[in-house]
Amino acid sequence: MTKNEKIIEELKRLYGGVDNFLNFNSPFELTVAVMLSAQCTDDRVNKVTEKMFKKANTPEQFAKMKVEDIEKMISSISYFHSKAKHIKECSRQIVEEFGGEVPSNMKDLVKLAGIGRKSANVIMLEAFNDCQGIAVDTHVFRISRRLGLSDKNEPEKVEQDLLKKFPKKYWPLVNHILISHGRKVCKAIKPDCENCTISKYCKEYNS
Ligand code: SF4
Repeated sequence: MTKNEKIIEELKRLYGGVDNFLNFNSPFELTVAVMLSAQCTDDRVNKVTEKMFKKANTPEQFAKMKVEDIEKMISSISYFHSKAKHIKECSRQIVEEFGGEVPSNMKDLVKLAGIGRKSANVIMLEAFNDCQGIAVDTHVFRISRRLGLSDKNEPEKVEQDLLKKFPKKYWPLVNHILISHGRKVCKAIKPDCENCTISKYCKEYNS
């Protein structure tokens, strides 16, 4: 087993397999939840979407709504003005350009308002069970660099390094377990290196 595989196996032992952090019942609900989760905790998003999806949970419904009405439902979420606009525009695109269904490929997903490559990776994996890459969020970005898995400064380039470093069977796991490690141990400020069970593999800790 390579060093990188040992890192993943150890984190898998600690944090389990693939759990989803955002609650959803359809690809569209996940698309909206992923959009809302940028710069916001999954817990807060889940609280907001639990109520919101009882009122509306289809692209047809959101496409017809006024932006102000969407804003009211998500006002406790960061950047809710721009996220409300994205939800409406993305819903319109899904209805008018994709027959009412969230597209199940990266090329079309990234055409949707408010959906970048990171979000598209999450949707492909979680909604369509088709892992196309590794979503690099703030935790994955930070820990990949600390561990020495990448020295790049842009999430897309970090993702390319990770895809080269891990066999495809590990791709669905990498995002989840690095996020769990980032929340519990390898925090942005004051990482708990003394209690980190992968410290022996960590470039930053051993430099
Ligand atoms: S040793 Fe410290 S910096 Fe390295 S992965 Fe563990 S917690 Fe993060």
